[in-house]
Amino acid sequence: MQTVLITGGAGFIGSHMCDLLLDKGYKVICMDNLITSSALNIKHLDGNKNFRFIEHDVTKHIDIEEDLDFVLHLASPASPVDFDKIPIQISKVGSLGTHNALGLAKHKKAVFLFASTSEVYGDPLVNPQPETYFGNVNPVGVRSCYDESKRFGEAITMAYHRKHKIDTKIVRIFNTYGERMRADDGRAVPTFISQALKNEPITVFGDGRQTRSFCYVSDLIEGIYKLMLSDINEPVNIGNPDEYSILELAEKIIELTGSKSKIIFSELPADDPKVRRPDIAKAKKELDWEPKVGLEEGLRKTIEYFKELEK
Ligand code: UDP
Repeated sequence: MQTVLITGGAGFIGSHMCDLLLDKGYKVICMDNLITSSALNIKHLDGNKNFRFIEHDVTKHIDIEEDLDFVLHLASPASPVDFDKIPIQISKVGSLGTHNALGLAKHKKAVFLFASTSEVYGDPLVNPQPETYFGNVNPVGVRSCYDESKRFGEAITMAYHRKHKIDTKIVRIFNTYGERMRADDGRAVPTFISQALKNEPITVFGDGRQTRSFCYVSDLIEGIYKLMLSDINEPVNIGNPDEYSILELAEKIIELTGSKSKIIFSELPADDPKVRRPDIAKAKKELDWEPKVGLEEGLRKTIEYFKELEK
């Protein structure tokens, strides 16, 4: 039986990764400081003999007794509302946290996977974004705590790969949504669904013509799993290439919830990317992966989850 450490394992994506890997027969150690995640996301795993939770901040030295086969470094707040509230913690988890997790992987001779982000492309001047695009990031803007620490995280991951010959993977995660997102997380999908379910105004920033491409969480974690088992050491985009404007997203959520909400427009946050869409040719070819869940199907499932939460 192989053992996996998942940092950020109580988060939105991390907790789904715990479920998938337990299901595939791995022993899972979940590490989280619960700063933006929730113990409720892993409550159903209480008592599972192959699962262990450790409350720990990965920006501090990480000590694990067991042998590890994989270290998945998923820990990081990732919502633009967190960029304002906790920019120093975000800067630290992508830099110091990645360094600690790499050190652990080296010590344990484990495969290391770093959760990077489409934010490394910044406000992209190329659409869709292939892995070969270097990005257009404001190094001192309000998003830079996230973007630049993730870019540094990629750099130090490659440095450990080149210098210490660690088997490392880098997944560039594009906008992902689904069950276990926080209702108050501030991101477009949970915000719009929460507003629609309460018949409150839907808050579209800017004119709503900026685009995103939304990947349902089950597709994302399947892609991460395939990458974790692959022999690819260069970054791979995982996301859904179907691109929608934010206004279209708001309208779709109003339609699917049958809400009476009206759309209201307010100022676009600084450095908000105008377009975002993954080029997934590499994941298709090298991982034989592509998303299966369309936006409407994924939104329906997510809306059901938020309805249950409100009961
Ligand atoms: N957005 C919006 N209203 C909200 C939340 C987000 O119009 O209440 C917009 C945001 O400005 C961005 C897009 O939706 O253009 C996606 O934002 P999100 O925070 O979900 O993620 P991002 O892709 O920006 O990291």
